[in-house]
Amino acid sequence: MPPVFRFAPSPNGYLHLGHAYSALLNHDLARDTGGRFLLRIEDIDATRCRPEFEQAIYEDLAWLGIAWETPVRRQSEHFAAYGAAIDRLAAQALVYPSFESRAEIARLVAEREAGGAWPRDPDGAPLYPGAAKSLSARERDRLIEEGAPFALRLDMASACARAGALRWQEAGDGPASERGEVAAQPEAWGDVILARKETPTSYHLSVAIDDALQGVTDVVRGVDLFWSTSVHRLLQELLGLPAPVYRHHRLIRDAGGQKLSKSTRATGLRELRAAGTSPADIRRLVGLP
Ligand code: GLU
Repeated sequence: MPPVFRFAPSPNGYLHLGHAYSALLNHDLARDTGGRFLLRIEDIDATRCRPEFEQAIYEDLAWLGIAWETPVRRQSEHFAAYGAAIDRLAAQALVYPSFESRAEIARLVAEREAGGAWPRDPDGAPLYPGAAKSLSARERDRLIEEGAPFALRLDMASACARAGALRWQEAGDGPASERGEVAAQPEAWGDVILARKETPTSYHLSVAIDDALQGVTDVVRGVDLFWSTSVHRLLQELLGLPAPVYRHHRLIRDAGGQKLSKSTRATGLRELRAAGTSPADIRRLVGLP
């Protein structure tokens, strides 16, 4: 079976040099190994994703000389599949609703921090500080019947107990040069959100499901997602999905050493193209042969 690679951008802005590097690296690896290259549109966030950004992804990738298989998987068309996975986790009693608003959560975190340090996840966000897990079934039902908005969270302690120790195969490099067999640390993320009222899935859940559904064997992506892999491994284990090999790659930085953002014009592919930069120049700029 040929290896399967994928590039999975979110259409919430225009692509920049960092995306070009990731897409070209995936594309080159697929070409050099006789593998397949898939494009996946990660558009679960309806408030931030826009059709013109999706269209621009197709244009920019084609300009770079990248060809992908069709049909393209667009995550917004598969909410039912993600919902079914949440049902399977719920059937294992690993999911609970939390009712606090974002403002309430911020207030709880401030309260915890006033009493000492409160843990943060690998992305720097405070762990969920609420107590929704210990609500009685009757109280939960009452709130849901009243129409209180809620998010569905993974009960991380129970999920980790169920899954046991997990590892993944890292063919790239972690932030501290981790390589080979890496021990997953999903508990560092706390009770992650699996679905929200306005978005019936989450990044972690849809990525884990889609990589498995699409038969992805090699996940090649930026090192900023290195520790997210812990949550992906956990979800794979709980849902009986295969684990791909991971290859996290360096990030392309701007002249000041900052991570690129979708709003920085100097490194946007459209701007570079308009200024006369060629696809071969882009390869050189990101350090690819
Ligand atoms: N959609 C994510 C992003 O644009 C990438 C997801 C992944 O590669 O796992 O950052």
